[in-house]
Amino acid sequence: MARPYDQHHGEALRAQLHLPLPERTCPICGHMTMRAYHHTKYGRTEPAWINYLWCGNCHAYSSSFTGAGRKMVESDPLLEQYGDRIAEVFRDPERLLEILDGYWKAGKLPQVISRRPRGR
Ligand SMILES: [Zn+2]
Repeated sequence: MARPYDQHHGEALRAQLHLPLPERTCPICGHMTMRAYHHTKYGRTEPAWINYLWCGNCHAYSSSFTGAGRKMVESDPLLEQYGDRIAEVFRDPERLLEILDGYWKAGKLPQVISRRPRGR
């Protein structure tokens, strides 16, 4: 079942930020199956990201909202498939993670992250 990481798990995840994602370990089940997804929101000012970090084995997850800065994702399979209904998918974490796992297995995730050109 999808369940959020607690504060203690969050600390364990932050301690691994220097490692590439495939080398990070889930603080709950110990599997090296951490996965990430970013969805871009275009607000009134700067683009922002909705971020999901989850474990493909036990479906523990954390979500956050951060400024995208000059980083951009080159594809968003969830947006391509669900379009305007994406907000509905975000409301159901178990369904969301099942869908994202499917993209992962299909090779559509992880996303390629690039630098946004200046002046855009
Ligand atoms: Zn896990």
